[in-house]
Amino acid sequence: MQIILASNNKDKLREVREILEPLGIEVISQAEAGCRFEAEENGKTFTENARIKAKAALKATGRVCVADDSGLEVNAMGGGPGVYSSRFCGDRGYPAACREIMEIVDTQGKGDRGARFVSAVVCVFPDGDEIDCLGTVEGTIGHVYEGEHGFGYDPIFVPEGHTRSMACLTDEEKNAISHRGRAFRQFADKLKIHMEKESAKE
Ligand code: IMP
Repeated sequence: MQIILASNNKDKLREVREILEPLGIEVISQAEAGCRFEAEENGKTFTENARIKAKAALKATGRVCVADDSGLEVNAMGGGPGVYSSRFCGDRGYPAACREIMEIVDTQGKGDRGARFVSAVVCVFPDGDEIDCLGTVEGTIGHVYEGEHGFGYDPIFVPEGHTRSMACLTDEEKNAISHRGRAFRQFADKLKIHMEKESAKE
């Protein structure tokens, strides 16, 4: 089966392909499907934003579309930057945004370095059906910026049970434990059940 990923983020596309293709789901980007736009992410939750992106791509293509909305929640920032993770970075680049988060945790965290990555996945179908999934990975904000793999805030996020940042893991190691890996594997299971139900109707 082929599915459109409603995203222009090349890092996400690579990870989602690596997670879904071994499970028999071919992923093409919304650009490859001929749609070149950024949907306005004005939802209050990851799931609302994923739904907005998936529905915009479905409207443009008329085909099954899936979107992930994800971000980093930091205890010392009251759960922020959360749905604003991409906007928190803005144009300054991730090394600077990561250093600001480390500074906030060091000075205002009162010893609480807890954080988590969250990924909400929403898949919409032309007949109005929808599949929703949520994946999280708990961890802490590290004391150093380290690692060259992954993207975004990976260099300062130390997953639970690890001693080094997510950016020190290979893609394969990251996908095995990441918020996105968990959400998209759940999605693959739900999609299989959905397809079986659909073919039973025929
Ligand atoms: P979105 O494209 O609107 O879902 O924004 C997601 C943002 O959250 C990214 O641009 C990163 O700032 C952050 N983020 C989400 N997932 C990851 C990840 O796996 N590693 C590092 N940062 C991430």
